[in-house]
Amino acid sequence: MQRADYLDHSRSSDELEKLGLAWRGHANIGRGMSINVVPFLENEVPKLLPHFALIPRSEAELPRNVALTSYDPTRIEVRENVYLAAAQEHPKASFQLWHEFSHAVLHDCQPKSLLDGVQERILLTNSTDMSVEEQADALSMYITVPRHSAESIRNLSEIMYVCKVPYAVAERAVRTYGIRQKRKLHPHEIQHLLTREEEPY
Ligand SMILES: [Zn+2]
Repeated sequence: MQRADYLDHSRSSDELEKLGLAWRGHANIGRGMSINVVPFLENEVPKLLPHFALIPRSEAELPRNVALTSYDPTRIEVRENVYLAAAQEHPKASFQLWHEFSHAVLHDCQPKSLLDGVQERILLTNSTDMSVEEQADALSMYITVPRHSAESIRNLSEIMYVCKVPYAVAERAVRTYGIRQKRKLHPHEIQHLLTREEEPY
């Protein structure tokens, strides 16, 4: 599925990592533990963004997206089934909400330009700006898999299990932090992890 994308001013990995750690701090959790995104969005975020709301919607009310962030006031609307799966810490549903939360804290301004497909790649290589989708995925990874967790766990499937993230996020963390895994996964183990990840909604 082609996601609509936009350019926004670029942010360094360092900047996104610091922001991710700061938000983990606001979630009041110990080192290396996963955060249940639903109570975080419902109870903690409104303390800092007073008009923020997380709103479950039926498919009829939210026909085109499973989740959507809008501004002024900042709110995340999410399909009810994704909301319920995320409340039970299902990795894909949870990450969907972290992704929307990242938009909420990073992109509270009008995007500069709409991108799609090939045009996106051309514009991105000619510009210091970054895709907002890429930024939201990166910040979500820094929040859900902090460097200290990845470095102490050092195994991709355990990162998925402990941090409750999908395969792609754990893989990205291992690559981003340059983790040398205790034991590398065999291709059939990766296949097993991926097939275990069916959508619950
Ligand atoms: Zn997005």
